Amino acid sequence: MGTVAVLGSLNIDLVTTVDRHPRPGETVLGEDLTRVFGGKGANQAIAAAAMGAQVMMIGRVGDDDEGARYIERLKEFGVATDSVVVTPGHATGHALIPVSRDGENSIIVIGGANLQLTEEDLAPLDALGEGDVLLTVLEVPLPVVEAAVRRATSRGVRVVINVSPYAELAAEVLAAADPLIVNEHEARLLEESGVARSAQQYGGLSVLTTLGAEGARWKDISVPADKVSAVDTTGAGDAFCGALGAALAAGSDKRTAMEAATAAAAVAVQRRGAQPEP
Ligand code: ATP
Repeated sequence: MGTVAVLGSLNIDLVTTVDRHPRPGETVLGEDLTRVFGGKGANQAIAAAAMGAQVMMIGRVGDDDEGARYIERLKEFGVATDSVVVTPGHATGHALIPVSRDGENSIIVIGGANLQLTEEDLAPLDALGEGDVLLTVLEVPLPVVEAAVRRATSRGVRVVINVSPYAELAAEVLAAADPLIVNEHEARLLEESGVARSAQQYGGLSVLTTLGAEGARWKDISVPADKVSAVDTTGAGDAFCGALGAALAAGSDKRTAMEAATAAAAVAVQRRGAQPEP
């Protein structure tokens, strides 16, 4: 079974309930404040570890209590944290998340230590090879993501990119991913960018689109979502990506990996928050 290296963000989410979202210049009252572990990178690392994969997290936290607690949290899930760099003079990343009573959220991400990630932090990728998977998200500096994809590809490592939050990467980098994972919104932005055309010279794009309650599609393979009663869809995409990475590292074929990912995401939507309990 291969290793899943996850390159991405580690954030503390500050979640509050509001009657409605503030308009520009307006103050609204939040009802409660919950602090939970989040960040797309760490969410996906934990989701992969929960599937039984051997997982290595590559990222940065601040030199604060929250950073130290996050490293402990990852260890509780069995995620290797040797490549999580504690960054002097920077705070651990945060996300401010007001959630309205009808369940709609808006998110402000304050990158903090995540934005200090450098190419030097990628050295652990040199321990990987064929059969291993690099899974990356875009809440960290894009030049580092691009360097990681090139480094992994040169070693025969399979690359999975979750193009979230949406940003433009070099066509050759996107074409190296198998798959690129996008939700419907990101799929539209990807299509509008016209990058698929530029990627033709590198063999084209392998796009896997998640379709919320409809499931997911990867080229000619469609897998329906499990019929469940959703409580909170936050982190459904992260659960999907982490589980898919774990299944691919275990040698599963595309359909089997998608079935494992949709099953994991269905479990995630039935609990509150983006991460399971250890
Ligand atoms: P989020 O940003 O909320 O984490 P996303 O927008 O990245 O999610 P979605 O396409 O909404 O991604 O969901 C990812 C996967 O989660 C879907 O492919 C599906 O397998 C599962 N999923 C999402 N919503 C539901 C639901 N209501 N019931 C069952 N499965 C769901």
